[in-house]
Amino acid sequence: MTRLSSVSPTLAIVGGGFSGAAAALHFAREATRPLRIVVIEPRAQLGGGVAHGNPEPVLRLNATDALHSPYPESPSAFADWLRLEEELAHDAEAVEASGLVFARRHALGRFMAAELAKHSKHNASGSTIEHLPHTATGLRCADTSYAVELSGGGVLAADKVLVALGWNAPAVPPELQTLHDHDRWLPDPWETTRLNNIPRQARVLLVGAGLTASDLVAALRARGHSGPLMVLSRRGLRPATQNPFRSSSPIWERVFKDQPSFIQTYGFPAGPREALRALRKAMAKVDPLHSSWHTPFDELRDAVPQFWPRWTESEQKRYLRHLKVWYDAFRFRNPPQIERVLKAAEAEGQLVFHAGRLREVNAVGHYFKVHYQPRAGGELAALDADVIINCTGPQLRPSTSTNPFWRQIIRDGLGRDHALGLGIDVDARGHLLRADGTAHDGVAAVGPPTLGRFGECTAVPFIVKGILSVLDSWYPLPDGGLRTTLPT
Ligand SMILES: Cc1cc2nc3c(=O)[nH]c(=O)nc-3n(C[C@H](O)[C@H](O)[C@H](O)COP(=O)(O)OP(=O)(O)OC[C@H]3O[C@@H](n4cnc5c(N)ncnc54)[C@H](O)[C@@H]3O)c2cc1C
Repeated sequence: MTRLSSVSPTLAIVGGGFSGAAAALHFAREATRPLRIVVIEPRAQLGGGVAHGNPEPVLRLNATDALHSPYPESPSAFADWLRLEEELAHDAEAVEASGLVFARRHALGRFMAAELAKHSKHNASGSTIEHLPHTATGLRCADTSYAVELSGGGVLAADKVLVALGWNAPAVPPELQTLHDHDRWLPDPWETTRLNNIPRQARVLLVGAGLTASDLVAALRARGHSGPLMVLSRRGLRPATQNPFRSSSPIWERVFKDQPSFIQTYGFPAGPREALRALRKAMAKVDPLHSSWHTPFDELRDAVPQFWPRWTESEQKRYLRHLKVWYDAFRFRNPPQIERVLKAAEAEGQLVFHAGRLREVNAVGHYFKVHYQPRAGGELAALDADVIINCTGPQLRPSTSTNPFWRQIIRDGLGRDHALGLGIDVDARGHLLRADGTAHDGVAAVGPPTLGRFGECTAVPFIVKGILSVLDSWYPLPDGGLRTTLPT
């Protein structure tokens, strides 16, 4: 390991899931001086986090291996690792007839851990990487330095702090909050070990119909679940399936270009109406023999961080009110393997989707009586369930999060919720904004908490772009170039 000078600055990375691990890699490779990089993460292994730390074999990445490299200049890095480690030899189902690969989610976590181990031994900036297995509970700021408070009472002094906390714990809808002490109520669907205690014949209600519900249906079926599976969501919308065709333009180009092809062709849409109009025009050009709606949709998606921040707050709110649920249904897609499980469960009559608004849930003896207002109208409808699982998605406001780090930051005015309630407020570089709107020099955020600012921030290329933007701000290249410019 490289020997650091006693004055090497300390970079504290709070959270060691994909974003925290990718940040450690990129800072170690590309900082213009040696750093002491300390990743604060309570989990034993870095790189996995909530999405990719779960060893459940049935859970798959919802996009192909090509999308999951952390390196813009080497988009096949994860795909190459899968082959080198013979991961696919033990997971034949990962490879589709088309040749597209949808690996297990846990494989990405293990790949990131391996990359981090490699970079800990040697990296271009001569930095060190340490894992501090704690929870960060607070942040204190002096003029140009910071102290991260840790569970157990310790403190880490740092020159810069990068917050990579991912999504908050799932939000619990008000109608389900009365169930809090029930052992057959699962408020956190990502704790899949709790599925082991569900009797196979149990009637299971999943509230919410997004990718999490799809994952849980697959995880229950993999356990031999034979009881009814009911999915209730307001509109009855379900995630679309992945693109059966290979994408014609590389995602890194679309995400990193100042003017991606969508913007070049249609300009910057002024609001959701214009964006939809442009998408319709792009879809009309699709040749169904060689392509599908996914291609123009993805071109729009990858341009979102270019145009979303230009929208006025009222246009952003219009999108959230009218378009978001539709956008999400096409944006967050089931991998084909999971889609097949859903289709089989539906064909067997085991899985039924209901559209309507949850009204009331009562525990009756050993089961729950659930009433909902059907979307189609009419009288309240009832469902009986032995187990209820919350699949409604994460809680988005740091101010009401259960995470002690966010709570303290908000309480002390060191940060504030984004105006639309979508994560933490940051500036265009990713630097946190204090309650009074001024930007921190040395505290930034990457990944899901930056949703409100960038509109798209959770897929790997968006996360990496956020990391490189913070790197450019903290350790600028001597020639003034930007790391978010793709190598030609
Ligand atoms: C279930 C699920 C599946 C997904 N599937 C995909 C996919 O297939 N492809 C894709 O591109 N994206 C996927 N995503 C999007 C995902 O958000 C990103 O890909 C990425 O994994 C986010 O990583 P992260 O490190 O920002 O967040 P996380 O994975 O949530 O990691 C945050 C880490 O912070 C730690 N932490 C929390 N609080 C503290 C604290 N106070 N102190 C210290 N550490 C703390 C947590 O332990 C955790 O490890 C998925 C997301 C979810 C939730």
